Formats: sequence, C-alpha cells, structure tokens
Amino acid sequence: MKECVFCKIINGQYPSEVVYETENILSFLDVNPINHGHTLIVPKQHIEDFHSLPTDLLNELIQTTSIVTKAILKSFNPDGYNIFCNNGHYAGQSVFHFHFHITPRFRFDGIKFKPNVKRYKNDEMKLVAEKIREMISN
Ligand code: AMP
Ligand code: ZN
Repeated sequence: MKECVFCKIINGQYPSEVVYETENILSFLDVNPINHGHTLIVPKQHIEDFHSLPTDLLNELIQTTSIVTKAILKSFNPDGYNIFCNNGHYAGQSVFHFHFHITPRFRFDGIKFKPNVKRYKNDEMKLVAEKIREMISN
C-alpha cells in the first residue's frame, strides 16, 4: 500500500511521534488530537479494518492499547478516556489502515460523542437480537 500514510510512518518514510513499539505494532501520537495525548495503536501489517484482524494480532493490539492507556493516565491524569476505532468511510474512518484511538478526556473539554439515539418499536429489538444470534452460531 504505497499511498497509505500509516504504512509510510511504519516504514520510516514519514515522520511521527512514536510512544511505543513492538514487533507487530506501532503506537504514535495523532497529528490532529482531540485532546493532547490522543494516541493511535496501529498494526505494522496493512490491514484495513477491525473484522479483518487475525485473532492473535487483535489480542496484541488490545494488550498494547492497555499499556499505552495506562501511560496516558499516568501522564495527564484525565477525568476519563475513550478508546475507539472507526471502520468504513460512513463510520468516519479516514485512514484505511486499522487503528485504535485512545483519547484522554477532561470534565470541561466540550467534546460530545453521543449521537441522537434511535428507538425500537414493538418486537423489533427481539428480531434484531435474533438475527445477530443466528449469525454468531452460523
Ligand atoms: P480515522 O479517521 O478514525 O481513520 O483516524 C485517522 C486518524 O489519523 C485521524 O485522527 C488523523 O488525525 C490521524 N492522522 C492522519 N495522518 C496522520 C499522520 N501523518 N500522523 C499522525 N496521525 C495522523
Ligand atoms: Zn497501511
């Protein structure tokens, strides 16, 4: 993936502020932070989205996310934090190389993540759950 900005960072062709590195993972600061300390956890392999990650790599990514989260907590003593990943253009993904975001949060930082919620009518909730349960057992 020649034009992938994260591959370029991983290959050392593009600058970044690395905070942690393992054999398979690089963690660096987001250049457009929601709050200072906003950090990305990125597999070195170019994999586009969450559901394409092999289980071992996913486990490693989660362990690394935990290590870096604890360091962010010690560094900034935030009031909370978000961990998230956007998957697909319509879900807000702008770099199509998988990454977890870790963002420290502060009581008065003014950031709002919660959208207007939808409602289930009648037995819709039951039907939706049934569909997902069926796909898990398939
Ligand atoms: P997403 O929109 O969830 O795909 O997140 C991509 C993130 O990558 C955004 O928050 C960008 O600010 C960040 N980003 C894009 N280019 C760079 C870069 N060169 N170095 C660090 N972060 C970047
Ligand atoms: Zn890439």
